[in-house]
Amino acid sequence: MRQLQPTPENYRSLYHEIAGTKADDLFPERALKLVCSTLPRLNQGHIEFTQRLESAIATRSWSAISGSLVGLMRAQAAPQRKWTALLKDVFRQLERNHASISPDQKYQGLQQILDSSNGELDALYARLSALIDKWEAAGEASRSSPVTLVSSVAVHPAALDNSDAALRDLFAHTLEGVVGSLLISAPELRDEAIELGQVLRSVRDMSGVDDLASKLRNLIYRLNWVVDDQSEIRSGLLSLLDLLLQNIGELVLDDRWMRGQIDALRALCDHPISARELDEVERRLREVIARQGSLRGNIDDAKHQIKLMLAGFVEQLGSFTDATSGFGDKMEGYAQTIAEADDITSLQGVIADVISTTREMRVTTERSRAEVDSMRDRVRAAEAEIERLQVELEQTSEKMRHDPLTGALNRKGLEESYAKEVSRAARRGTKLCLAVLDIDNFKRLNDTYGHNTGDEALLHLVGTVRDCLRPHDTLSRYGGEEFVILLPETEVDDAVIVLQRLQRELTKRYFLANNEKLLITFSAGVTVVGQEEAQTSAIERADVAMYQAKATGKNRVVIAPPTSLAA
Ligand code: GH3
Ligand code: MG
Ligand code: MG
Repeated sequence: MRQLQPTPENYRSLYHEIAGTKADDLFPERALKLVCSTLPRLNQGHIEFTQRLESAIATRSWSAISGSLVGLMRAQAAPQRKWTALLKDVFRQLERNHASISPDQKYQGLQQILDSSNGELDALYARLSALIDKWEAAGEASRSSPVTLVSSVAVHPAALDNSDAALRDLFAHTLEGVVGSLLISAPELRDEAIELGQVLRSVRDMSGVDDLASKLRNLIYRLNWVVDDQSEIRSGLLSLLDLLLQNIGELVLDDRWMRGQIDALRALCDHPISARELDEVERRLREVIARQGSLRGNIDDAKHQIKLMLAGFVEQLGSFTDATSGFGDKMEGYAQTIAEADDITSLQGVIADVISTTREMRVTTERSRAEVDSMRDRVRAAEAEIERLQVELEQTSEKMRHDPLTGALNRKGLEESYAKEVSRAARRGTKLCLAVLDIDNFKRLNDTYGHNTGDEALLHLVGTVRDCLRPHDTLSRYGGEEFVILLPETEVDDAVIVLQRLQRELTKRYFLANNEKLLITFSAGVTVVGQEEAQTSAIERADVAMYQAKATGKNRVVIAPPTSLAA
């Protein structure tokens, strides 16, 4: 009725459908027996395994079959573990300084065992173990430092040659020194890397490297996790810093310079950060903290002074009113006495009192006025001090490392950067280039379009330079329209290419002044900084080259001849 093919499977499923039973998987007895018959029976272990499997198949028990397979795997794993330990022992004993056995004798002993093993692993294992026991016993008497076996390496057939050994030592050093020191936050991995490095150092030939390779693979696998963790921690710290900066930024809404610094800091922190950028963050943050501290400290002082004076003023006012209200009462008393007096003589005393009271009153009033005057002067002085401090802080950008107009480093910032880069270059043996840039015909631009437009042109140049340079190049405003660029790890020809790229970029990005497209160009001199060369001398050299660029047509880059100091 269903037009099914008459296959065994269809018959079987129809049978179960009609019987209302669940179809079990068929037990492939014949196929399994066939597999059993092809299994090798090379040693006692093989024979036992095959017998166990055959009886499991005979009882049609899947759990017995899986049991025998698991047993086989375990049996396979166990000797492998023992082999690893044995090989480690072999290496250890080879490195040991045995008084009674020379390194050559050891290699010969090993060689004999290897030659006579004929691929019989069980026998090889037993013989190697016996040999190690013998060496071990011989070594007990003479424990001493490991001996180097370079002289005997040549007699060993699979021994590493010199370049292999150098590579091995380099790799071991990478593991112990480099990887190890990078893993401060993962002490177990660090220990493991160091241990693997040591094991690697003791490798004499290629026979023991499989185990080492698998350990290395495992280490690398787990190193990936550490790297992931660390980059997560780093980005977490950066966003924490950003949060802090945002918070500081909200607290200092009224200080323009501070806001600029904070915005710059946040821009620095919004991507994976390099050591140089971290320097920059630290420098700016220190300035922010210093400035905030001094601003708040000074202004708090001045405010406190005003508060003290106000309190004094109120107190004085109080005592003044006391004196004057007493005066009124007294006068009223005297008026009454005068009104009630019936002869002139009785007035004599009253008049004397009035005169003395009035004199007292005048003295009090004068004193109070003098005090009030002096207080007012002091309040004015304190107010002026607050104002002066605010202005001074606004203008003391020389104390800071950044130029307030363009946000580029100022001279002080350049000095610090220069010192750092010069020593970095010496440490790493890299070239540091310095370029002096001067905008062409800037005076004319100022005269034609006004000083504000001139300022905007400076900002335009600085923005373009920032976009064109690498993050670790630094830009400083050296004078009005003169800039210094430091290019670490750069050959002089590459520095010229960088500057010319910058010039091309400036021709592409118009500067708009009153809807007029203006072309900003600069002339530059570039030089390689000599080892430990003073900043002034490097700048002078680049400056001479810059003037040459001016003299030969402007909008050009000229290379200054290197000093004898140049590395
Ligand atoms: P050259 O191509 O030979 O360099 O000519 P130049 O006009 O650029 O050079 P010069 O040194 O004669 O003029 C530089 C001008 O830069 C003079 C000064 O008014 C202007 N300047 C310096 N600092 C600033 C600043 O902060 N803002 C503005 N708008 N102008 C500035
Ligand atoms: Mg100039
Ligand atoms: Mg100029």
